[in-house]
Amino acid sequence: MSDQDYVNLINGSYVVAAVLFIVGLMLLRTPATARYGNRLAALAMLIAAGVTLLDRNIIEFEFIIGGVIVGSVIGVVLARTVKMTAMPQMVAVFNAFGGGASALLAGSEFIRLANAGEVREDVAATIMLATAIGALTLTGSLVAAGKLMGWVTQNPIIFPLRNVVSALIGVLIVAIGVILVVDPIDNQLAFAALAGLALLLGVLLVTPIGGADMPVVVALFNSYSGLAGAATGFALENNILIIAGALVGASGLILTRIMTRAMNRSLANVMFGGFGASGTEVADVDGEVRPYRSVQPQDAALMLGYAGSVIFVPGYGLAVAQAQHELRTLADMLQARGVDVKYAIHPVAGRMPGHMNVLLAEADVPYDQLYDLDHINRDFDQADVALVVGANDVVNPAARDREGSPIYGMPILNADHAKSVIVLKRSMASGFAGIDNDLFYLDRTSMLFGDAKKSVASLVSEIEDL
Ligand code: NDP
Repeated sequence: MSDQDYVNLINGSYVVAAVLFIVGLMLLRTPATARYGNRLAALAMLIAAGVTLLDRNIIEFEFIIGGVIVGSVIGVVLARTVKMTAMPQMVAVFNAFGGGASALLAGSEFIRLANAGEVREDVAATIMLATAIGALTLTGSLVAAGKLMGWVTQNPIIFPLRNVVSALIGVLIVAIGVILVVDPIDNQLAFAALAGLALLLGVLLVTPIGGADMPVVVALFNSYSGLAGAATGFALENNILIIAGALVGASGLILTRIMTRAMNRSLANVMFGGFGASGTEVADVDGEVRPYRSVQPQDAALMLGYAGSVIFVPGYGLAVAQAQHELRTLADMLQARGVDVKYAIHPVAGRMPGHMNVLLAEADVPYDQLYDLDHINRDFDQADVALVVGANDVVNPAARDREGSPIYGMPILNADHAKSVIVLKRSMASGFAGIDNDLFYLDRTSMLFGDAKKSVASLVSEIEDL
């Protein structure tokens, strides 16, 4: 094979990998094709990494195979053991590794070129970008994962002038970066300072944010890890790294936007606002103790079993209780009785984007029974029963009606418009936003207290006896 043929083969493989990445991403748009899309993207990554390693003659063939085996074993173990509710922290750790890898690659390239005395300015600029973004993504994502795991305090760690200190460090990083672009040779101490300051900035950016906002932060760092990868791609003149990095950077940013919009928050509010401390207190709206109605499974089963239409509203509590299989059984039983059953999916129900879709897909709930907010909201007006399973904020009418509420303006599912509402949760405690929920006190609302899995199971057995 001539050298030119070899180059063509490598570039051809990159084009195939790039197309697979893009098609894979497109397939991730709906739960029905998401798994297939994920596999295509994984195949693309295998092609891209394998071809790059062979092309550059970086390491021996045996090491590539060894790496694939070790990586696959770790991947399979994680995929089988990490709980669905722990997914955000796993993604955070992946982002940390992605950012860290970019920073290390860029750093080693800088040292190699500086030692050879041939650092071009444009290459130096992308190396500085990759190092700074990669390093702050590494520490920022690790702090985010620590908060999600409860290893780092979930409360915002706030000190005076923190934003000024962070801004100063940011300016310093840019200044050192510019010096290094202009004068890269014999300046490795300055390079180490740039990397160190970026590591510190990652910590300072995330510690003041409350634990509950971490999923948004994780999405943002996902985007950063992509940007760092793309910058490294420019530094190494590796096209597939540029393409993959740009795709991750853009999709992470779009995801961040979707999440902040669904929570009716600005990104600046999440990053610098101090909202999102893990709230468990019920903030009683007017200081009064309000009456609510609790119901037993028997009565709730009667309401469901003789309804014409029922809309299930799953929320974070469904994930905690892992009640998706029982819920699917309940839906099957109601449908067998002629009840029309739909699932209403709020974009930020749960603790990560697509949380409810993933859980319900695990229980093989048919996709055509899942409706997103825009497509289901009008149906609540005609529904006989809204069955709220471990959801709270996403059905809180305060978001619609109470100006001044922390969630005012957040789009919600209109469960309160149904003729009757059954809420499955363990207590009157608040959800993520830490505020009371008017829905629980309506005349037509019945609270069925208990763990969602047990409550749904008891509804199933009561309906069996109807
Ligand atoms: P919430 O966090 O508002 O409420 C969940 C409810 O589930 C709690 O009130 C809790 O009440 C109940 N619960 C917990 N465990 C169980 C259990 N084992 N059995 C029964 N009930 C249980 O959840 P929502 O899904 O309504 O809203 C999601 C919130 O998370 C929104 O505020 C959203 O903005 C936020 N968020 C979402 C992100 C995403 O990407 N999805 C990212 C970041 C934030 P009790 O303790 O009484 O049982």
